[in-house]
Amino acid sequence: MAASPKVRVRFAPSPTGLLHVGNTRTALFNWLFARQKKGANVLRIEDTDVERSEARFETQLLDDLRWLGLDWDEGPDKGGEYGPYRQSDRMEIYRGYAERLIEEGKAYLCFCTPEELERERQQAIAEHGPQIYSGKCRRLDPAEARRRRTQGEAAAIRLKIPEHPIHFHDIVRGEVTFEHESVSDPIIVRSSGMPVYNYVVVVDDAEMKITHVIRGDDHLSNTPKQVALYEALGFPVPEFAHLSTILGPDRERLSKRHGATSVAQFRDMGVLPEALVNYLALLGWAPSGGTRETFTPQELIREFSLERVTPSPAIFDFEKLYWLNRQYLKSADRQRVIALALPYLRKATLLGEDMDAEMQQWAGKLIDLLVPYVDRLDQLPDRAAMIFRYDAVAAVSAEDNRPLLESEAGGKVISAFAKRVASQSDGFSAESFKAIINEVKAETGTKGKELFHPIRIVITGSHSGPDFDRVIPLIETGSRLPLPQHVLSVRERVAAFEQAFAQS
Ligand code: GLU
Repeated sequence: MAASPKVRVRFAPSPTGLLHVGNTRTALFNWLFARQKKGANVLRIEDTDVERSEARFETQLLDDLRWLGLDWDEGPDKGGEYGPYRQSDRMEIYRGYAERLIEEGKAYLCFCTPEELERERQQAIAEHGPQIYSGKCRRLDPAEARRRRTQGEAAAIRLKIPEHPIHFHDIVRGEVTFEHESVSDPIIVRSSGMPVYNYVVVVDDAEMKITHVIRGDDHLSNTPKQVALYEALGFPVPEFAHLSTILGPDRERLSKRHGATSVAQFRDMGVLPEALVNYLALLGWAPSGGTRETFTPQELIREFSLERVTPSPAIFDFEKLYWLNRQYLKSADRQRVIALALPYLRKATLLGEDMDAEMQQWAGKLIDLLVPYVDRLDQLPDRAAMIFRYDAVAAVSAEDNRPLLESEAGGKVISAFAKRVASQSDGFSAESFKAIINEVKAETGTKGKELFHPIRIVITGSHSGPDFDRVIPLIETGSRLPLPQHVLSVRERVAAFEQAFAQS
């Protein structure tokens, strides 16, 4: 039995904008498949749309893929056996194949003007017929057509769609058949000389020996034309796998309207690449058995299969992505999280650019304290409010604090607590603070929530939050550091609270 050819897949983005989640999932599924099959992952830049393609988008695309860890074996930046890997560098190749197709009678010159084509289209609409090219220029004498082109008449090149149904196999959808009557003879090279997507993609996939074309299902309707091109060019037809559309929570096609959709936006929000990769892998694919949700890239490579990709649309669930991100943030390497978190706190001017060793240590503890409470790193400044933006008036008047503060036990706890804080001359350590709480407990005969909640409200503004053991040292040390925004000490908080409480 002949060995099956080495798996070769490609991700073929157009550099016309930011890498969005739909394309990222395509890149990911290609990568997973290539890595699992020990095949080659090719990156090809499809920049034949000269108007919309920009070099900066290509640079950003490559950066985004690297950030996600989706590496490639051949591509514009690293070359490879089947390059060049940027379509604008392959124009000669496309010209050669197009002329060959004309010579072999598989393609023909088309002189129809845009106005004529539009008239045909309008007529088809009026007659409720299929809006496909009439095939008028198919019937021209090839020698005559060549003569007209040589004399300077503008001519596009069209492929002759064969007069039989077009079949192909799609791993996600099974056998797909298109009746040839529904497929127009496609233009493969415009009269301007510019080759079009459906044509160049086939030439490239064939020349690059791609075995599996994994892409978005927005290309499903292009596939019969491409299959006809493979056949006309005498190339083997690859396997296809068309991935379903991604919808927003409202079941409309995912778009900017739904919020962040580009890799760059999620990165800026403080989503970790492994969380995004994990989430996108589950968008339209599920491992067999079990309901596990977290997978490392290595686990995904092991488990992935195109056969388990669903043809039905996938709904992008932002909350699930953020939930996963929270899990990854909690287990990520501490130094990495600190390095990633600092810019968010600096941008909110909670921390300065220059930090000495003590301040760095303090910032690290601050981040340790806050990270378990966020889904994304951009939420850190808000979460830091209990440290940096203590607001006694808000604490006193908050709806869910009122019942506690107004209760008899609450009042007793607060006054006993305030009295002791005022009489302590030095700052507090976790231990000395605990000692005070014990005294308050003994004096008031309260315990549990009755004891802790009022004190927590006085210190942080809220009855829930992290342990005093961690909060108190952070507040006390912070109050002595020259931070861009002063952190109120325990004593300052209590004084401010008492004043606000008395006035309420
Ligand atoms: N450049 C095309 C796109 O970004 C790629 C299509 C394909 O994978 O064939 O949609």
